[in-house]
Amino acid sequence: MSEFSSRRHEEDVPVLIVGGSVVGLSMALFLAQHGIPALLVERHATTSIHARAGGFNARTMELFRQVGIESAIFEQETPPEQLGEMGLRVESLTGKVLDNTEAPTYRQTSVTNPFASSTRTAMIGQDKLEPILQKHASELGSDIRFGTELVHFEQHVRGINALIRERATGQECRIHAHYLVAADGNRSAIRQQLGIGSYGYGTLGQWVSILFQTDLSEALQGRKVTLCFVNNATLDGIIGQSGESRDRWALFANLKPRPGERLDAPSETYCLDLVRAAIGIPDQPVKILSTLPWELASRVAEHYQQKRVFLVGDAAHVMTTMGAFGANTGIADAHNLAWKLALVLKKKAHENLLATYGQERQPAADLAVSVSTGLYAYRLPHHELREAITRSAEEMLMRVRKSPDVPQPTAFSVIHGYRYRSAAVSHENDDDALFENEPSGRSGTRAPHVWLSHNGKQISILDLYGSNFVLLAGSDGQCWYEMFAKAASRLGLSVDRYSIGQDQPYSDGDGSFLACYGISDSGTVLVRPDGFIAWRAQNAATQPVGSDEIFIDLSKLLGYSPPLSAL
Ligand SMILES: Cc1cc2nc3c(=O)[nH]c(=O)nc-3n(C[C@H](O)[C@H](O)[C@H](O)COP(=O)(O)OP(=O)(O)OC[C@H]3O[C@@H](n4cnc5c(N)ncnc54)[C@H](O)[C@@H]3O)c2cc1C
Repeated sequence: MSEFSSRRHEEDVPVLIVGGSVVGLSMALFLAQHGIPALLVERHATTSIHARAGGFNARTMELFRQVGIESAIFEQETPPEQLGEMGLRVESLTGKVLDNTEAPTYRQTSVTNPFASSTRTAMIGQDKLEPILQKHASELGSDIRFGTELVHFEQHVRGINALIRERATGQECRIHAHYLVAADGNRSAIRQQLGIGSYGYGTLGQWVSILFQTDLSEALQGRKVTLCFVNNATLDGIIGQSGESRDRWALFANLKPRPGERLDAPSETYCLDLVRAAIGIPDQPVKILSTLPWELASRVAEHYQQKRVFLVGDAAHVMTTMGAFGANTGIADAHNLAWKLALVLKKKAHENLLATYGQERQPAADLAVSVSTGLYAYRLPHHELREAITRSAEEMLMRVRKSPDVPQPTAFSVIHGYRYRSAAVSHENDDDALFENEPSGRSGTRAPHVWLSHNGKQISILDLYGSNFVLLAGSDGQCWYEMFAKAASRLGLSVDRYSIGQDQPYSDGDGSFLACYGISDSGTVLVRPDGFIAWRAQNAATQPVGSDEIFIDLSKLLGYSPPLSAL
């Protein structure tokens, strides 16, 4: 009897996640960390075989640090000293190096990163990351079922009715869920069923990922290649060594129409031609291990939510591989949604809070997709569509840049500088751009990292975030604690409180806390469970408030409209 057939044919779950790739698994893990054991179904029998995303940026690693898997990831990553050539544009691996043209501001990699972090980018493929996510989510209580697909679903006022099927046995099970999370990728059948459209340039090309084996030790004479752009008459693509073995390679190739070829299922002969064109040796012996066709596109869903269904990851936005923002943006979606779903399911917030998910995450996708698309256009010097693609990227960027007078974002702004505007943050400089190029401590921005010492140990201020709302104050800010404690208890909300300063239990040594968070030592900052600043008083004197006002502000942040009689 399979594990599935021993289960009941009807089950109640708080959240059903469809799709068990990197974003769905992250969603399960973040929910489990908040005490919500979701059911996740994934059509494939295993986690990803192809590496696909190979770099998980410092913001993503901050989120993974919060859920305790940072060290497990670093143990599995390719050590920096084993990385080879990155970012060169060549005619072929053994051919000549092509020149690059001048890059606009956000493409400059020489800019120093102003967003300090407690961690760093991990160079690890999805094939290695996903099993770590799966293991930890399962250990925390998520029910993860591979080889199982969503057959159909419908939503009604109180929840979702879904039918899932184990593919090996055909066994079906009815699921009743409070919420459905669509992590089912670019072609999301859930998004299509909901009739949610998208905006952006659209399809940029059909690509294929080719995993192959070949011995290039002699041809490359000891060179290591991690990521190389190849442009020649046969091929526009990206090539690099894949995994520990020097003989194992991955090529991502842009497919061009060719007689007798289907671009969504290229033949082995076509793939071999592409690989040899990338290497630059026509008779090089090559063994193809696996191929994965995919669409390169630039688009964002018009809506991220329809009633009880939420789109996350590629189901909500698709971008080019340039900038390596795709999976990272999806993981940040999941992180944003998880604490909100958890508070609503625990009846500690009004379900209005869930509407802030799309309000916050859609502009973050606009930023990532536009920068990624701009970078892609820049890498296509001989492409006739370059201008149109660049224009589309600039148009999408204006949705968050708001005015041409606002400086262009950098790649660091995409990673750490996106800014939320919604009812789940208090209002500060509301008409400004929805990103910043350096940390400000304003409401709606990521709470900046500062090193602290506590009980003789060094921790990051970010290590205080992840579970509850957190109130931070300087040495003269004690008055805030009582006001927040009173207001929070009326709402049944947990708010952790920390006093930070040179002579405080959490010492910042150099006094950088106040400067980074933009407050005086009588001010305070309220940080949300996802590490974003919800509310800030720069000092006690300019913002004299009492616990009733704080109660109203906290209520609004949680989606309630408090009646005046509540005062
Ligand atoms: C070559 C390449 C390189 C990339 N490099 C990077 C990078 O360096 N950094 C980065 O951040 N991003 C990168 N990306 C993008 C990244 O891979 C995607 O953004 C990421 O995989 C999206 O994850 P997802 O979970 O949203 O969707 P997907 O990975 O598409 O997963 C969706 C899952 O849903 C499942 N599914 C669909 N329908 C059903 C159903 N009815 N029932 C059950 N399961 C279902 C599918 O089987 C699939 O596993 C790269 C992509 C490619 C192709």
